[in-house]
Amino acid sequence: MSFDLLKLNPHIRENVRTLGFEVPTPIQRKAIPAVLEGRDVIGLAQTGTGKTAAFTIPLLHRLMSGPRRQLRVLIVGPTRELAEQTFNALNDLGAHTNLRCVTIYGGVGMRPQVEGLRHGAEIAVTCPGRLLDHIRQGTIHLQHVECLVLDEADRMFDMGFLPDIRKILQKLPAARQTLLFSATMPDAIRKLAHEILRDPITLQIAHSKPAESVSHALYPVPPHLKAPLLLAILDRTDRESVLVFTRTKHRAKRLAAQLTKAGHRTTSLQGNLSQHQRQNAMEGFRAGRYQILVATDLAARGLDVSTISHVINFDMPGSVDDYTHRIGRTGRAAKTGDAFTLITQEDEDLVRGIERVLGSRIERRQLETFDYTARPAPAAHSPAPRHPAQPRASAPPPAGARPAGRVRHFGQRKRRRR
Ligand code: AMP
Repeated sequence: MSFDLLKLNPHIRENVRTLGFEVPTPIQRKAIPAVLEGRDVIGLAQTGTGKTAAFTIPLLHRLMSGPRRQLRVLIVGPTRELAEQTFNALNDLGAHTNLRCVTIYGGVGMRPQVEGLRHGAEIAVTCPGRLLDHIRQGTIHLQHVECLVLDEADRMFDMGFLPDIRKILQKLPAARQTLLFSATMPDAIRKLAHEILRDPITLQIAHSKPAESVSHALYPVPPHLKAPLLLAILDRTDRESVLVFTRTKHRAKRLAAQLTKAGHRTTSLQGNLSQHQRQNAMEGFRAGRYQILVATDLAARGLDVSTISHVINFDMPGSVDDYTHRIGRTGRAAKTGDAFTLITQEDEDLVRGIERVLGSRIERRQLETFDYTARPAPAAHSPAPRHPAQPRASAPPPAGARPAGRVRHFGQRKRRRR
């Protein structure tokens, strides 16, 4: 199937071509026609399947006819990173359409968001908390919303946003199209979907299973040798950008410092950062100034960097679903990727759960020249050994700050190739 068959508005068709999307992904093949028909949709699709374009393409098409300068599409998702990424997708797919979009999330000033809304954005990409602030202050008007998208609904539920979402729903016109995307379907989300969607089509893509374009390997290691083993793996691996996951913020920060000390251009993304620091880390990683990003699950949610060749689980994820989410950061759409997981003895149960979902045993690897018998370092916080092959990196240049909260005409922003 080609995008031509979908009979899209010529501008949007051209933007799809410019992005290099040759054929629709499976979720797009199913969702785009359904959304164009005005149907409510439940999309059970993991990240990396092309789900964002599956709803942005038909919604942009719809906005090309009908009134301008009023809010017609409301997108609600769990994190500001996801909001920014959805905005970027809308910006690329909506270039030269003269449509406007505003991002609405906390941690940045209200003013630019209020201005954006006042100037007549047709689309708002939002996070629940700040959206409610605007609702309470009367700075957002939802009476013209024709379509609501709840993106990563299961994550919003995990993060405790369900009561906020119910409040938002009360303010929306009842006659609207609703699209709900979720990687998994916990009972609470199923119930919500049942209540708020009208005769929805359910589209299920690869039942919460890591993308097939990713290959997996496990590296058994004693806990105290994790950092040296990671350095050894990095040294022996042909890679582009690498995303490393740790269990806690503190571990993310500490490991990033160890990797930097060992000569790797590394940054970290964890909950304790200011919005400016987060943007700096994300932009730096995306632009390649940092080759390695160390993050916690929450901080990396929604991260979409097409050059991620490796996801490394320095610490095992908390669940099989979290594994799927983490791994979804590599092998995105048409690319391939590698997922390495450092495992200690106590991780074996979860490993078996992951293997069940994958339907096959994951290869266990041992690095031949690595000394697995080395004793723990005497001080608990002693840094990992510096690898002799790696020169120490000079500090990366600071990234320019992005403006806080933005309304933008599509096509206005200088296109950034990812
Ligand atoms: P998502 O699942 O929305 O996070 O998308 C994952 C990645 O797939 C993004 O980097 C998109 O730019 C890319 N993508 C989306 N649709 C297509 C397509 N039809 N062909 C190739 N790449 C795509």
